[in-house]
Amino acid sequence: MDIPSLQLLNQAEEQDITMTSAQATPIQKDSTHAIQSEIQMLTSGASAGIALTVQNAPLVTPPAPKARTLRDRATAAAARGDAKDTQHAPSRSPLDKYTAASEMPRVQDAFPAALIANLDLSLLDEWFSYEGQKLLIVPFEDKARDPDLKHDIGEKLLTAVKEITTAKRASIGPPVPKSDITKLRQMPITYLAYHLTQAEYNTLLSRHVWSSEAITFRVIPTDPPCPDFLFTLRGFTTLDQSHIHAMVSKVWSDEETKNFITCEVNAARIENKKSTEETLIHLIKSLKVTHLKIKNRGSALTPHFNIYTDGKATTDEELWANLRTFLATRKYTLPLQGTGKVIKAPFNCGACHGVDHPRGLCPFPGIKGWNGPTYHAEDDPRYRGRNYNRIA
Ligand SMILES: [Zn+2]
Repeated sequence: MDIPSLQLLNQAEEQDITMTSAQATPIQKDSTHAIQSEIQMLTSGASAGIALTVQNAPLVTPPAPKARTLRDRATAAAARGDAKDTQHAPSRSPLDKYTAASEMPRVQDAFPAALIANLDLSLLDEWFSYEGQKLLIVPFEDKARDPDLKHDIGEKLLTAVKEITTAKRASIGPPVPKSDITKLRQMPITYLAYHLTQAEYNTLLSRHVWSSEAITFRVIPTDPPCPDFLFTLRGFTTLDQSHIHAMVSKVWSDEETKNFITCEVNAARIENKKSTEETLIHLIKSLKVTHLKIKNRGSALTPHFNIYTDGKATTDEELWANLRTFLATRKYTLPLQGTGKVIKAPFNCGACHGVDHPRGLCPFPGIKGWNGPTYHAEDDPRYRGRNYNRIA
């Protein structure tokens, strides 16, 4: 790998580590005052630079049955017909213009609060104080970072939200960066939707990603589940992902990992010990490895292996961050190949903003009926040294 690329990757990793450790805050899991205190808790979280720390979300208890995220609940609510009272049933639905995939891929963020990390905190306080349901909306493509396009994108988002939900009062707030954000690559891309009814909220969340010819965007609840993606391993000259899976699995089931789980359980409040242990065991057991076919500029293969767990099963971001930090500092070694390099947030897809692949390997353009950004020549991963990771 050439030196400039290495520097970019290192910067991305350092930035991510800093942000992850900045989230560390005691998690309060008492769910009895969930509704009343949600706004206050989230607002105070935002003031501390954390926001979206899920203080009072109903505790998910993995591993079995599979934990239900808000998205799951919203989908179920939509299936029950909760949204019917406020929606018309035209013979030809205005939703026909939006891509209707049975299951949209999940966009992987660098860490649970990544989407609001660079937003102005007083803006978040104001937003959280509004009545009604709220959602985060992230438009696809890098042009979302351009301050000159904010108004235009905001209008397109409002048009789409109105079209999708037939909302009467829905509003869209464009992202306002913190005062110390000056570089384009740091500009926040998260729009704030508010004044939504429960039915409108459910409808918007039912598809996760909405894609029409006018605009493509992702919808995220204010208490998002944790990312599935943990980190990438590279430095191994093999194409056999099962070999990598077996090696990682061995590390994750050794004594050191067991000791880590014991320490986390011991540190948890008494009422959370059982769920802490179950969550950690579930995450570790749900290891999944995928092989990203990356080439360098000389067309040599530089295999990247993405490491995932079922992060969406939990909203406990502190526990997730502790586990990720622990697992990322472990040694991953193959007998004939030495030790691999761990990279957190190795990419920044110019289409969906996911951190687990470059734009050339974005899964969205491959979806049947996709209306959003597509591939073009420079998306080829062989050009990665020059064209990808510009916003790492
Ligand atoms: Zn992508």
